[in-house]
Amino acid sequence: MRLLIMGAPGAGKGTQAVGVAAHYRVPAISTGDIFRANVKNGTPLGKQVDAIMKAGNYVPDELTEEIVANRLSEPDARKGFLLDGFPRTMHQVDALDDYLDQHGTTLDAVIFLDVDAEMLIARLLKRAQTEGRADDNETTIRHRMDVYRDSTQPLLDAYAKRDLLVRVDGQGSVDEVASRIAAAVDAAVTR
Ligand code: ADP
Repeated sequence: MRLLIMGAPGAGKGTQAVGVAAHYRVPAISTGDIFRANVKNGTPLGKQVDAIMKAGNYVPDELTEEIVANRLSEPDARKGFLLDGFPRTMHQVDALDDYLDQHGTTLDAVIFLDVDAEMLIARLLKRAQTEGRADDNETTIRHRMDVYRDSTQPLLDAYAKRDLLVRVDGQGSVDEVASRIAAAVDAAVTR
């Protein structure tokens, strides 16, 4: 199973990705987590992306694409994966298509977690208090929303045109949303 999970910042991608990946026995691969781990460990990559992430901007496409291609080439991702937070630009969509083409494979479904805009801001502000993520302050949150709307929302149309998009209502408890996702993905891949 080769899946993507998309949604605005605060839509709950990370939380749901872990459950969905376990359900389909594939690794959950989060570009945000990879970057944050590098920042935390002070690696050269971390030093390169730290300020970009703090400002709520996207890491350059080529760099992000290289990180993902390397990760997808690891043995645990050969039979399937769930990508969380990638692709986020049309350039990244093309890069992922090329990678999958070269490996003779395709995507099975793209999960879109749909959450109302006001709810998103409220969730992120709450997460700012509990987790203390460097990019969870109101100015950066609003900027990330704008970047998402301009750069990432168009991807939903692109995947809808290919009949890959599985829209799921992301409002409700974690478990409610998780069962909605499983039902919707199962229905989409068996149709
Ligand atoms: P959120 O969806 O809440 O913004 P993520 O953990 O997915 O959280 O991403 C955090 C940050 O990591 C982004 O704001 C961006 O700076 C960087 N990032 C993650 N994925 C990508 C990507 N595919 N392309 C460029 N930058 C990315």
